[in-house]
Amino acid sequence: MYALGLQDIDIDKIEKIPLAERLPSNFLKVFECEIPEPKDDEVLVKIFGAGLNYNSVWQSICSPLSSKSLIEGHVRRNSKDIHHLKNYYIFGSDGAGIISKVGTKVKNWKIGDQVVIHCNVVPTHEKNIDDMKSLSQSIWGYETNFGSFAEYTCVKYNQLLKKPAHLSWPEAGSYMLTLGTAYRMLASNNGAKIQKGENCLIWGGAGGLGSFAIQICKMIGAKSIAIVSNFEKANYCKSLGADFVINLSEFGSFEYLNKLESPNYLFWKKFKNKINDVINGEVDVVFEHIGKDTLGFSIYILKKGGRVVTCAASSGYLAKIDLRYLWMEVKSLIGSHFANLQEAEMANKLMINKTIKPVTKTIIKFDQIPIFLDKMYNRENVFGKIGIKF
Ligand code: NDP
Repeated sequence: MYALGLQDIDIDKIEKIPLAERLPSNFLKVFECEIPEPKDDEVLVKIFGAGLNYNSVWQSICSPLSSKSLIEGHVRRNSKDIHHLKNYYIFGSDGAGIISKVGTKVKNWKIGDQVVIHCNVVPTHEKNIDDMKSLSQSIWGYETNFGSFAEYTCVKYNQLLKKPAHLSWPEAGSYMLTLGTAYRMLASNNGAKIQKGENCLIWGGAGGLGSFAIQICKMIGAKSIAIVSNFEKANYCKSLGADFVINLSEFGSFEYLNKLESPNYLFWKKFKNKINDVINGEVDVVFEHIGKDTLGFSIYILKKGGRVVTCAASSGYLAKIDLRYLWMEVKSLIGSHFANLQEAEMANKLMINKTIKPVTKTIIKFDQIPIFLDKMYNRENVFGKIGIKF
């Protein structure tokens, strides 16, 4: 079968190049490999639609770790998955397709079923235990092999969800990772558990996470304040139902941190006042994934007792924060990562019953994956999700 990702020989070369000079399309390639054989608790799915996620950017540039290290880590935690160790790594953590083979212990699913695959890999789901706290937990197509950028993928049967009948394949194959993540961050007890009437500031409102975060706020009755970098993205957020949009291009310079990478308090104060003026109130929850550049400000801007919920650090994971604004103002910083099975199922239900609408604005062909990962990395004008048609 054909697949897209990296091979061992590529990783050796990439790791010798300075990080600032690495770009996904410089390294990613299509290669031929064997169709994986499902183990007893796995299924083989023929992929009909998939989606791009930022984790494929990280994998392509081997930062912070190469796929080889990530998958070796998964196998150390899950010795049964030794078959994931190959000399190639297939990327892709979102996909939808049709089951074409089932392992002997697979329950409730059969050949021919149309499925969406969620990316949380755990050997078993234990009732009343949060999967995300399991020591064996990994993300499919990132910390495990056989991701969705291939003709076939091999996944645990407990990763399967019903495909919403009204969605096209690229739509069905591109929402789960970011919708599930945004759902846990905002709606779940494991996240910020946002309440009706609260104000939620959403970084990257037009991105994959942001476009679902806006819709989740709307569903709950919370007010969303989407932050974006240009006019087109601002309009897109409004079309999704954002209550307020802050277009960064309308401000002068954006210096959250000064030259020594310490908090730029003057700018923070100015920007906080501006946002509070626009919303005529204060921010209860910040939906974070930018990291180094904005985390300190995200804590600062909250009203007393507010919460920052974060799942990522696109601008860097070593962030400087001023702890005084956390403890003196009794705020919380909540870490969140994808979604457990119950949260993924809840998120999928919202898509099935059309409470949440798909945000797959761009549909690309398989061989365009590298170029579109570059666009995500460079913060070009991409909106919502990018779907892949097979
Ligand atoms: P997208 O590329 O779809 O959107 C990210 C948005 O963030 C962009 O639209 C951009 O908006 C904004 N952005 C990027 N860099 C900066 C910056 N330095 N300052 C301000 N805004 C910035 O990505 P996703 O929404 O899918 O993912 C975002 C991050 O979350 C990634 O790092 C990803 O790996 C991570 N993630 C983590 C998950 C988890 O489970 N832990 C799950 C899903 C994603 P604009 O240009 O308008 O400012």
